[in-house]
Parts: sequence; C-alpha cells; structure tokens
Amino acid sequence: MLDKIKQLAKAASVLEPAADLRGKMFRQAGLHAEAFLEALPEGKTFVAGDKRSEQLDGNFAEDPGDFGQLLKSFQAALDNEGINAASGGHMGYIPGGGVYPSALGDFLADIGNYYAGVKFASPGAVKMEQQLLRWMADLVGFPASAGGDLTSGGSMANLTAIVTAREMMEVRARDIERSCVYLTEGTHHCVDKALRAAGLSECPKRMIPMVSGCRMDEHAFQQQLEKDKAAGLRPWLVVASAGTTDTGSIDPINAIAELAEKHSLWLHVDAAYGGFFMLCDEGKARLKGIERAHSIVLDPHKGMFLPYGSGALLVRDVAWLAQSQAYDAGYMQDAKAVAGVYSPADLSLELSRPFRGMRFWLPLKLFGVAAFRAALSEKIWLARYFHEQLEQTAGWEMGPYPDLSVVTFRYIPKYHDNNTFNAQLARAVLEDGRVFLSSTRINGKFVIRLVVLHFRTHLKHVEYVLDFLKHKAAELDQPEVQTGTDTR
Ligand SMILES: *Cc1c(COP(=O)(O)O)cnc(C)c1O
Repeated sequence: MLDKIKQLAKAASVLEPAADLRGKMFRQAGLHAEAFLEALPEGKTFVAGDKRSEQLDGNFAEDPGDFGQLLKSFQAALDNEGINAASGGHMGYIPGGGVYPSALGDFLADIGNYYAGVKFASPGAVKMEQQLLRWMADLVGFPASAGGDLTSGGSMANLTAIVTAREMMEVRARDIERSCVYLTEGTHHCVDKALRAAGLSECPKRMIPMVSGCRMDEHAFQQQLEKDKAAGLRPWLVVASAGTTDTGSIDPINAIAELAEKHSLWLHVDAAYGGFFMLCDEGKARLKGIERAHSIVLDPHKGMFLPYGSGALLVRDVAWLAQSQAYDAGYMQDAKAVAGVYSPADLSLELSRPFRGMRFWLPLKLFGVAAFRAALSEKIWLARYFHEQLEQTAGWEMGPYPDLSVVTFRYIPKYHDNNTFNAQLARAVLEDGRVFLSSTRINGKFVIRLVVLHFRTHLKHVEYVLDFLKHKAAELDQPEVQTGTDTR
C-alpha cells in the first residue's frame, strides 16, 4: 500500500512545478501579456467570425502539455476575434476595463487561495472586502449601518437585492399575484431574470412610461401606484436605473424615493453602469437621491475599470441582507459569526467564492482615488464632446444630451430608409473594426450608441469615430448605393 501511495504521489507531482519552472512560466506569461498590451493601440477592436476559436483543441490528453505551446494556442484561438474588451476602441454595449494591477491582484489572491467566504478562514481577506464595501457605501452616501457583498457582476448583485427586498417586504407565495413591481422599458433585463429566479414572475409588473423615451415618468408612476392601491393591490418594489444600459439616462431618483417612502415600497437602484460616476462632480450632480435607496447595485468591472467578474451590492442596513441570507449548517459551526459581525457568506448567495477584494483593492490603493475620479470625468466630457460635434454636423439626429457617458444618434439619409441606412452604417463600423459600437431600437428607430467608459478610451478614439461616421455616411448616402437587404 505504501508503495502505491508513493507511486501515485510521483505521478501527481507535476501539479507542483519546482521554483525554476514556476519562474519560467511566470516570465513567459508576463512576456505574453506585454505583447498583448503593446499591440492594443494599433490593433482592431472587433473582428467578426469564429474561425480562430475553432482551432482550440478540445482533446484533453493524459500527458502534460508544454506551457509555451499552450500560450500560443490560447493566443491563436482567442485573440483577434470577437470584441477586444481590453481595447480603448471598445465603445459598444457597456465596456469593461482590465486595469493591470487587477490581474496581479487576482494572481496573488489565487496563489494564496485565500478563503474569503468566512471571516474565520481569512480575517484579512474579509476585512479588505468589507473596507471596499464601506468605501462604496460612503461614496453613495449610505449610513454606518450599511453593508453589502462583492459579487461576480451586476446580474448576481441585482438577484441578491431582489431576494433581500422580497424577504424584508415579506412577500409570500400567497401574496405574489397582488404584489406589484414598478419598472420601465429601460430597466436592465437581468432584473426581470432576477424576479423569475426569486419566484416573483407572477407579480404584476408595471412598465412605467418614460419621459422622452429614456427616464421614468414620475407622474405616471404616482398614478399607477394610486390606481393599484385603489384596486386593493400591494405595491412593494420599484427599480430605478442610474443610468439605463440603453441610453445612460438616470431615472428621477429623488422623486421616485419620495413616492416609495410615501407608499412604503422598497427602492432598488440599479447603478451597475452609472454608480461610480459618484466619484466625479459631473456624475454626482446627476445621481442625487441615490442615498435614499434601500439597495444599490454597482459594477466595479464597469466604472472602476476592473476586469469582468466584479459586481457589488450595497444595502442601507446590513442586517437586512443578513436576515435574507441567514443559514445554518452543522459543519460550519466553527466559522459561525458573533451576532452582528458578518462574513461574506452570511450576506451572499455564495459560500465558497473567489477572493474578489484583491483585484479591486490593489489598483485603488496603488493608483489612488484621484486617478479614477479624473478618468470618469474624462469619460463624461468625451461623451459630451462627441454629442456636440456630431450635433453640429448636418444630417445627424442626436438622442438626449448625455446624463453620463452614453450617446445615441442616427443619420437621416437623403436617399434611403432611415432604419436600413443606420443598420448599414453600424455594420460598416464593425467591418472596419478599429472601434466597436453597438446599436439599439428606441421607439422603433434604429439608433447607434457610443459608450465611453473604458479607461483606455481617449480623445483620439472619439475623434476617430467622428471622422469615420461622417465620411462613411456621406459615402453610403448616394442614390446608387444599395444598403444591405434593401433591394430597391
Ligand atoms: C451591466 C448592467 C447590468 C448587468 O450586470 P452584469 O455585470 O453584466 O451582470 C445590470 N444593470 C445595468 C444597468 C447594467 O448596466
């Protein structure tokens, strides 16, 4: 038996590379990362297709592979195809980030494999996360009682918020059909998913109309509330967006909070996109009233420029979150908290989870808050600049002046159908690939969106878009040019 154990240990020993081999791999990975970063400024932001990904070898052999070779296959299959989310040219959907020290933070967090689920296991990791949550709570103006959780993203944070609201508002199965939820067409679809996951899909969902197509009409909200109450229904949850993913518009949070307080609703603010703009004066001015929410979602992988996998939920009273996530398990008895002192697992749907604090803490401490403040302010001014420049150019119809950093627009062609033409124009941007923009439909109109949020997006990228759009629109808007499927 002992021989067998020794033999097996020898066969498994490859799992623990020796120091010199580790050093070599680290240098190879570092060089790989450098080559990637150095290629960014001149590289494409979007390449259509999936041919490169098809090269990935799906065979997992018994024998070890070669690290250098694996890096090559990884690069060949993953890079230069799809959206390059690390590129400053990414101005579609809501861009993420990927600040360098976050990668090193993940590296160190993973090397130590710190268990950030319970305080007992890694008091330091838990403390670090709690300090980050405190920093965010202060940022949004929450009181000392506030707390929260670092999640994998905005969707999970929204789900946790909905579950917390359901528990604290005591919405039971028998109440569901009379428990009304208030949203708008601009509410992120993950809220709808969350309602379903939380067993609340049968709540009457009131889509409150939006003023000029982008933010909740507070008067319509009030009327709907009164109507529902008069009908004997129970309004319990309103979700305000700050700002919407589509147009970046911010719902009138103060007015919504007023009504939520008056009628005893839970006010959830989905600030996954816009929340960190609280760091700069321009954003703060737009986000007034956010501190009146019961719960707020922020996405550090958006506004703090972290790599994907970083969301956050903040709740005005941490006890609400603890109450909604309470659990007990015999095998966890050693880790159980003292009353009032919570571990992430007491406040989360997750138990074992990555140590998410380090990728956030390291860049924040290393670069300092001022750098983030400046970058977010820069994004707002770039969006304003883009809006103003295009507005002054004949032929363009602009969406609302940006609340934050999303601009919607379309070209009004002389010779073509509006929607067909703009779809063609959006395709031309993708075919060029230097930058990536996405599109949406607002009141049946095809509009193109520019979202400035990547920390690598600067004036030159915005100038490039302006230049490209102006030339391309002029080039395409000719009587003889066919646009897409249009066969006239
Ligand atoms: C991005 C976003 C979400 C979803 O967050 P993920 O991090 O992608 O899961 C939810 N709401 C808003 C407003 C968003 O912008």
